[in-house]
Amino acid sequence: MSANREPGTTPRIGRAAYADVPLYDPKRVPTPTDLSDNTNLWGIPPVAERTLRELPWQRVTRYPSLYAAELKAALATVAGVTPDMVVTGCGSDDILDSAMRAIGDPGMLVAYSDPTFAMVPIFSRMNALRAVGVPELASGVPDVDALVASGADVLYLCAPNNPTGRLVPREALARLLRDFPGYVILDEAYIEFAGPDASHVPLLAAHERLLLVRTMSKAWGLAGMRVGYALAQPALAAEVEKSRGPYKVNGLAEAVALAAVTHDRDWVDAHVALAVENRRRLETVLREMGLSPVPSSANFTLVPVDQCVEVGAAMRARGVAVRPFPALPHLGDALRISVGPWEVVQQAIDALRAVLAARGPLQRTDTMPIPRATA
Ligand SMILES: *Cc1c(COP(=O)(O)O)cnc(C)c1O
Repeated sequence: MSANREPGTTPRIGRAAYADVPLYDPKRVPTPTDLSDNTNLWGIPPVAERTLRELPWQRVTRYPSLYAAELKAALATVAGVTPDMVVTGCGSDDILDSAMRAIGDPGMLVAYSDPTFAMVPIFSRMNALRAVGVPELASGVPDVDALVASGADVLYLCAPNNPTGRLVPREALARLLRDFPGYVILDEAYIEFAGPDASHVPLLAAHERLLLVRTMSKAWGLAGMRVGYALAQPALAAEVEKSRGPYKVNGLAEAVALAAVTHDRDWVDAHVALAVENRRRLETVLREMGLSPVPSSANFTLVPVDQCVEVGAAMRARGVAVRPFPALPHLGDALRISVGPWEVVQQAIDALRAVLAARGPLQRTDTMPIPRATA
């Protein structure tokens, strides 16, 4: 008898572990100016674009390479590791999913510093793992003691963190890697914006259970291509690759990503610098407006704003999408604003200013807490 069928009951459809897994839906609505997803608002790098246009049709009719060996070699060169320390995937979402499958036995516990990337509890549950959020300290630093004491088998951290933009202080990370015996997944989706000294690659040599997760969706401008990768010691990289399976990077994505990594690094560096400059400018303007943006090391700014869901909706009515994060630990309601060319950032500032002015003086309502968004 199938496990799905108890005598006298209607058989359920699908795995029990999936029953209450929600579909990821950040409630995006097409908006003329979209500053809600931290993608590269300057566009696609030039050689990647030409490669996309001129791709021979054979790349589409034939299978791509099994495990994207050429792309792995190119990414390894950029990261300063050997190719056997790289695993690619269909976006870094796929890497996170594969990693959890590779290292987590059903029922194991994944702990993450809260707030962070909304996909983590979802992928945990999709792989029959349990997930628990550990609120970060009021200082914005992950609560290392509580994470270590959580009894988790796997930790997930993100640096710079989405949605706060904060790095994990070196000392906290060192203590965590020393005291936590399990696997540590460290998501570096925004590492390019944090400066050359921020990379966690030097930690790999001493930590065989550390997985660094990266993406070509943000600084590299290729979110639609779905290319992510991870860096780890060869034994762990091989397990994640096995779990990922063959042909996960499609032929088009492989060619375009390889072109970008090989030829477009100057373009990416230049636009990362512009993003950082415009983020600083945005932070200054927000402070002049009497707001207190969280100091960011990424291509977005998180700024506490009361009733962020309503403010976000009103901004969208003015043609600008940003991402509301209601009821964050210590920060309360906040808006995450992606940074791009200054004209676009200026539109977000204008919309926010108009909405806040129309709302009048802040009314602090300490009534019912607004439910946490799932994203
Ligand atoms: C955007 C983002 C990703 C990227 O996901 P892809 O699947 O590579 O597009 C991964 N982690 C975090 C924290 C992100 O914000």
